[in-house]
This record gives sequence, structure tokens and C-alpha cells, in this order.
Amino acid sequence: MSITTRFAPSPTGYLHVGGARTALFSWLYARKHGGKFILRIEDTDLERSTQESVNAILEGMAWLGLDYDEGPYYQTHHFDRYKEIIQQLIAQGDAYYCYCSKDALEQLRTEQMTNKEKPRYNGKCRELTGLEEGIEAVVRFKNPIDGVVTIEDLVKGDIVVANKELDDLIIARADGSPTYNLTVVVDDMDMKVTHVIRGDDHINNTPRQMNILKALGAELPKYAHLPMILGSDGARLSKRHGAVSVMQFRDDGYLPEALLNYLVRLGWSHGDQEIFSLDEMVEYFELDDVNVSASTFNMEKLLWLNHQYIMNSDPVHVARHLSWHMGQLGIDPADGPDLVDVVKAQRERSKTLVEMAAASVYFYKEFDSYDEKAAKKNFTVGSDDVLEQLHAKLAEVKSWSAEPLHQVIVDLAEALGLNMGKVAQPLRVAVCGSAVSPAIDITLTLIGREKTLARLERAINYIRDQK
Ligand code: GLU
Repeated sequence: MSITTRFAPSPTGYLHVGGARTALFSWLYARKHGGKFILRIEDTDLERSTQESVNAILEGMAWLGLDYDEGPYYQTHHFDRYKEIIQQLIAQGDAYYCYCSKDALEQLRTEQMTNKEKPRYNGKCRELTGLEEGIEAVVRFKNPIDGVVTIEDLVKGDIVVANKELDDLIIARADGSPTYNLTVVVDDMDMKVTHVIRGDDHINNTPRQMNILKALGAELPKYAHLPMILGSDGARLSKRHGAVSVMQFRDDGYLPEALLNYLVRLGWSHGDQEIFSLDEMVEYFELDDVNVSASTFNMEKLLWLNHQYIMNSDPVHVARHLSWHMGQLGIDPADGPDLVDVVKAQRERSKTLVEMAAASVYFYKEFDSYDEKAAKKNFTVGSDDVLEQLHAKLAEVKSWSAEPLHQVIVDLAEALGLNMGKVAQPLRVAVCGSAVSPAIDITLTLIGREKTLARLERAINYIRDQK
């Protein structure tokens, strides 16, 4: 059987990490089985759907690298088809017009609550025949009364729901617009979706959707409901736990593959393995191994993973992402060293690309002022002379590379009877503005000859001005 999965977000906000995990699992399942992955934008709620949110979904999918074989489809383009199916269901006796007024339904609900019954539609219009002109009507699906629906959930196992628990769901509103359960069913059927992989917040919809599919004579897809993602306090993950939008993770300096790796482990495991390449994810992914219970989002672990990816990924790849962050800081990477060399120098010490970018600005741009503490500690009496001698020696270096630069510092320290730090630290503050940077020889290589010499002069003048 060829496999088709889909990701079907409603464009009513940013792409949430929970949604991204659903997308990832659907994508992995399709890729693993050589199947098809569809992106379907469920934008029928015209009031809540926005173009901005559609863009955020597309941007998030692209950033994560979750490519789709079909789509994006837009449900708003399928209204005629939904109407056709609604009419078909009415014609075959599986749906009916309901004329009950809002007030009448409200009264029914109050009575049921008072009698401690589950609020549900009582089926009053179920057996009406013919159309009543001039009265507003919704269309309800005629849910079977007897029997059970069994969801053979690929994650949670069998879930049995009695039909008498399901009331006759509205499939078209009074204005004729279709409701969520109807549109999902029609598209899943038309798109020949074989596996519906989605969050378990939809589990209550599943038996209703299965009944509609049965009424349409459609083949039922298999279902896999993914457990929730919780914040550290045990509540459903939301904005108040910090970043939850996929693009926020980009902005915060995460690599997409680190986020994917984190998301795949959120509710799925393969032995003790923590780090998975995309190919490994595709190879090992099984719905059988998805946890039944909810998982907790752990920022610390994501940060750890991000650092692993920054350290171990191809620096050319990391540099491509770093370039975006440098741009955010107003830096043009053409104004300084090759970003790949910057990545190599900074990757051990940077857990995020935001950190890496912020710590790399001085390679490209003059800093405004010295870090106060660093200057106080390292620009002391006599350090101007040390820097002056360094300036003279460095100006003579023929090939501006780590080894000869290192030698100059070592030789000068020896000649002056100082330890390395007493030479390297004032030098570092002079060229970086702070006391933290990669190894000093690498730092000088990255800053380059002209900038290094100019900054040494600036520092010498600064120290002399302080005297
Ligand atoms: N559009 C629904 C949502 O964003 C998902 C529907 C589905 O996966 O069946 O929650």
C-alpha cells in the first residue's frame, strides 16, 4: 500500500512547536515508507485565519526543511466540493436539516445540565422530511444510534466509543459553510490520506469523522494520535513557558536540525540514542515507539542539543545560518573574515547562533568602547608600552596567520620576562574590546592585520589618555 500522510494546520497563529512535531512525525512516516506528505492549510474559519499565519507556517516548514510532495492546499478553495458532499449526505439520508433555534438548544442544554446529563442534541429534527422554507437551518450528520466505533490507534491502541455517546454533529452552519469535521473528512478522503497523524486533542473528533467516512463509503485511514507536549509545570505547553513558535527558535539562535532532533525525541525514542541525523530519523522512526503519555519540553536539553549541532555540523552549514544572525545585527559578512572560519573559532563556546553572532561582531565592526572591567584590569601602568612593542613586532609579520602571530606574542613575553597572559590579555582587550575571545592567535587572524594594528594604536592612545 502506498502511504499518504498530511499536516493540516489552521492558520490562526504562528507555527507552534507542537504543530511542528506533528508535521515532523507525519513527514517521517511518509519518508520512511516512500510515501507522500501533503500540506493542507485549514483556513475555513475566515475570522481567525490570517495570511500572516499562513506565511508563518510556510516559513516554518521551509526553515525546518520539511518538504511536502503536494500542497499547500487551501480548504477555502474546496467549498464547492464540501457543499456537494453535504448535499450527497442529505440525499442519501445520512444528514438532515435541523431547524432548532439557538434558544431552544440553549434551553435543552440547561435542562440536561440540571438533570446531570451530558449535554447533547436530542435528535428532534432527525426524522423530519422535506425542507421547511424560510426558517434558518443547519445541517446535522445522522450519527448511527447503535453500535460502537473502534479507533485502532497506532499509538494509543484500541479506543472504543459507543455511538450513543456521539450526538448529531453540525456539518453545515446556517449560512451553508461547512464545519471542521466535515472539511477534514472530505479532504482526507479526496486526498487519499492513509495515515492521519495528529495531536490527541483531536481524539474526540475521530469517531465522528470515521462515521462520516463510513457514510460516504470511503476507506478509513489509520489514525495515530500523538500525546501532548507539556511545559515544565505540567501544563500544556504555551507561550508563557517561553519560546513556542518555530520561528522564535530560529530567532533565538537554534539550528533547524537541532530543533528537529529535539522534537523527534519528544515522545519518541530509539534505544538510548539522543542524536539523530535526518537519515537516521527516517530509518528508525516507527509509530510503535511513540510514547503513550505526554512529554515535557525541556529547554536545557534543547540548548545542549543545539550546542552539539553547532560543534559537530559542517561549519559551512552553520556559517549559512550564522550569516542570517549577523545580518540581524547589521553586520555585512563581506566586511571581515570568512564566516566559516568564525564558526570554527567560536563553536566550542557558543550554545546558540545568537551568542556566536554577538561574540563575533568585533571581527567585522569597530566596537564603541572597552568592557569597563576588562580595561581596568588589563590596561594598567606599562601595558601601553607592551602594546606598542607588540604593534611594532606584529607590523613586521609577513604572513598573517596563527603560527607566526603566536610566536610574536611568546617571544615578546619572554623578552620582557612576563607570562603570556600579561601580554595576551591587554592585546585581547585592545583588539576585541573585552577579555573574552577565541585563542589570541586565531582572534588576530580573524580580525586581520589592518584592524589589529589600528586597534592597537587606539588602545595605546586610550591608556595614555587615562594617565
Ligand atoms: N486543522 C486542525 C488543527 O490545526 C488539524 C486537523 C487534523 O489534523 O485533522 O488543529
